[in-house]
Amino acid sequence: MEQAYDLVANQLQLTCTGCSDNCCDSYFQHHTYLEWSYLWQGLYQLPSGQQRLILQKAAEYERRCESAQLRGEIPGVMCPLNESGRCILYMHRLMVCRTHGVPATMVRPDGKILRFPGCFRCQELVDRSYPDGREIPVVERTSLLRRMVVLEQKFLGGKRHLLPKVKMTIAAMVLAGPPTMVHCSDRQQGEVHGNSDRLIRE
Ligand code: SF4
Ligand code: SF4
Repeated sequence: MEQAYDLVANQLQLTCTGCSDNCCDSYFQHHTYLEWSYLWQGLYQLPSGQQRLILQKAAEYERRCESAQLRGEIPGVMCPLNESGRCILYMHRLMVCRTHGVPATMVRPDGKILRFPGCFRCQELVDRSYPDGREIPVVERTSLLRRMVVLEQKFLGGKRHLLPKVKMTIAAMVLAGPPTMVHCSDRQQGEVHGNSDRLIRE
């Protein structure tokens, strides 16, 4: 994933250094237990004071997103893991974070091709270097997503279909604690399927 991103970013000469439009305030929901769990693996490694601060920021994030949605707006709230413009869990960030920014394509299961133009900074670079809009380098996300599905199945012991679907912001993943693998039949519909016994290192 990183190689695919770097290849395109290098061709476009895109870097995030000094970017005034930090995209970590873009509203995304994430869909795998694997990423949720990996995020928590990173959170556990942080000092307890920092974990507490992140929990507070995550709660505030969710409150502000809810208010924005009630007003009919798309939330634009800075991710609770972003500190002074940088991701404090860079090695544990999610797939969307890893692929956001550069132009990308994806083929949906129904065959429709989706095209993503990249972030604003990237679009400016593309306009400058590819004024005719041809042969713009892109990351092809379909194979990456397929690989993610395979890894998720492996992680869940082939029982993905028995578990509730994940559709959560990073803040919601933080607040819910690390995921527990409890089957749908054992849960109330709509119940948060995190582990409320999350640990804060003392
Ligand atoms: S991906 Fe684009 S918008 Fe996001 S920080 Fe990098 S240059 Fe800025
Ligand atoms: S996890 Fe890191 S890279 Fe992803 S949105 Fe949050 S701060 Fe940004």
